[in-house]
Amino acid sequence: HRHVLHASREAVEAVVDTGHFHPEAVDWQRLDAYRSEGGYRLLQACRDGEIAVDTLMQTLEAANLRGLGGAGFPTFKKWTFVRQEAGPRYCAINADEGEPGTFKDRYYLERDPHRFLEGALVSAWAVEAEALYIYLRDEYPGLHRVLHEAIAELEAAGLVSPGYVVMRRGAGAYICGEESAMIESLEGKPGKPRHRPPFVAQRGLFDRPTLVNNVETVYWIPLIWQRGAEWFAGHGRHGRSGLRSFSLSGRVKRPGVHLAPAGITLAELVEEYGGGMLDGHRLAAYLPGGASGGILPASKANIPLDFDTLQAEGCFIGSAAVIVLSDQDDLRSAASNLLAFFADESCGQCTPCRVGTEKMLTLLERDEWHAADLERLSQVMMDASICGLGQAAPNPVLGLLKDFREELAAQQIIVKG
Ligand code: SF4
Repeated sequence: HRHVLHASREAVEAVVDTGHFHPEAVDWQRLDAYRSEGGYRLLQACRDGEIAVDTLMQTLEAANLRGLGGAGFPTFKKWTFVRQEAGPRYCAINADEGEPGTFKDRYYLERDPHRFLEGALVSAWAVEAEALYIYLRDEYPGLHRVLHEAIAELEAAGLVSPGYVVMRRGAGAYICGEESAMIESLEGKPGKPRHRPPFVAQRGLFDRPTLVNNVETVYWIPLIWQRGAEWFAGHGRHGRSGLRSFSLSGRVKRPGVHLAPAGITLAELVEEYGGGMLDGHRLAAYLPGGASGGILPASKANIPLDFDTLQAEGCFIGSAAVIVLSDQDDLRSAASNLLAFFADESCGQCTPCRVGTEKMLTLLERDEWHAADLERLSQVMMDASICGLGQAAPNPVLGLLKDFREELAAQQIIVKG
């Protein structure tokens, strides 16, 4: 099989060419080929009443399948919350994949769109959705075509009613990866996050209960059903369970999407999957969860990378985008770059984020950093921002203040307080 289904190192050949993607150049699996290996049997069995929703949910619970877009919320629970709300309901798949360093959803979509579509349709079936929406990152133009063709194949084969699956293009805003902003955008409005409650499971798309799942989360559903919950849950290291698709980038020999056991450490990931550090580079720091997951020093390369485990360090794994920095990287530039990104992508509707990101950027440009001021500003942003963007934006700065005082001094930055 041409892509990765096992977590053994030998089988993980999933190094992605992150260059420009032409749909003609990728041999994506067509409907006939997918069906010939058992594809869409799960969907058929669900629709024919051979599988009860409860049974499928028990399987997903036993597999410990969690939301792989970043939040890590148990998938079966999300289904339960939506199902207990009165219909009509909707299902929306978040394919906006905008977190810097993350490219795993693209990896699966451009090779195996039907496995994803089957998982998405099964999720829609599970909540008896009136329609299935797919919100696709606009910077993936090749994927628009792949998915349109794959959906047309499904409609022609009579596997979905025409119009049931609705594709929508994003417009390049990072914030539209936040589920309530995505829903606003799907409704044709500017992508600004909503206050919660109500949660989107209660009042989401068009004010109706909505199941929002990430691409990779639903991608695993047909495989978990075929191979059993134990197959998925049986992987894992350091007390964690499951598989994670790490988007590994930075100063490593083999960047790309690496399917690895949940709970693997950074040191293990780089050595066993990333081919080690690039020649002439020494590990200095890493971002465990893209731009928003914070920054950790080389001395903390042995913490299990998974949901919850990084919390004590003020970090999180998010969508498992691991960015590796070396002794040749400038930490201030890295932090300023991240803050500039957040300032640029802030939707601007709340002051702590809109003003806080800009203010922090200004403070970082000084050669004297006042830790107390930076921490106070961070606290306001974390406490008072409406959504995760403003709440997570200070993470890289807090990480530098906590663990990188010596390195900052070496870069002529004096930290006071
Ligand atoms: Fe918008 Fe930032 Fe407020 Fe989120 S935290 S709602 S991105 S201004």
